[in-house]
Parts: sequence; structure tokens; C-alpha cells
Amino acid sequence: MELAPLQDKVLICAQCGEEFVFTVSAQQYFLEKGFVEEPRRCKHCYTQLKKDKRQQDKNGRGRPLREQPAVDAPEAAPDEGQLDSGATEPEPSAEQGQ
Ligand SMILES: [Zn+2]
Repeated sequence: MELAPLQDKVLICAQCGEEFVFTVSAQQYFLEKGFVEEPRRCKHCYTQLKKDKRQQDKNGRGRPLREQPAVDAPEAAPDEGQLDSGATEPEPSAEQGQ
């Protein structure tokens, strides 16, 4: 069974609005990579986007860690609570004194 023959497609870049050709070889490349969707950007905008992303990754490296809630912060709380409840209890021996 053979795959349907691919043809060059003319797409419109979502970023700059220019027409660009989604070539057969590019489509094959997409298929190999498992991409189902067609590219939304022309090659120029795509490479530009890639550059931007790379820069964002560099700049935002510390961010993902900050966005996650601090894992070690809540652990300190329960211990303090236990200490509080223990302190409010009166001496157990007082009741038995009757
Ligand atoms: Zn473009």
C-alpha cells in the first residue's frame, strides 16, 4: 500500500501573511517527525520564532522552578501546629486528683 502522493502546498504564514510553499520534502519531514498539522509560519518567521524561543529558554531558565510551589515550605507548618495543641492541654494529672 502506497501513501498518497504528496504535492507542494501553498500556505499563508500566520505571522507575516506571506504565502509560502510547504514543499513535498518538508511535508515528508513533518510526517517523519509525526507532525500532523501544517506549518503555520513561513520559513523566515519559523526560524525567527525558533531564535526567540531559544532566547526565552535562556532567559527563563530560572522561571519554571519559581512557578512551582515551594515543596519544602508547607512541611514546617504541621510541626508547629502540634506544638501549639500540645501546649494548650492542661496537665493530665489534674483530673485524676478528684
Ligand atoms: Zn512569515
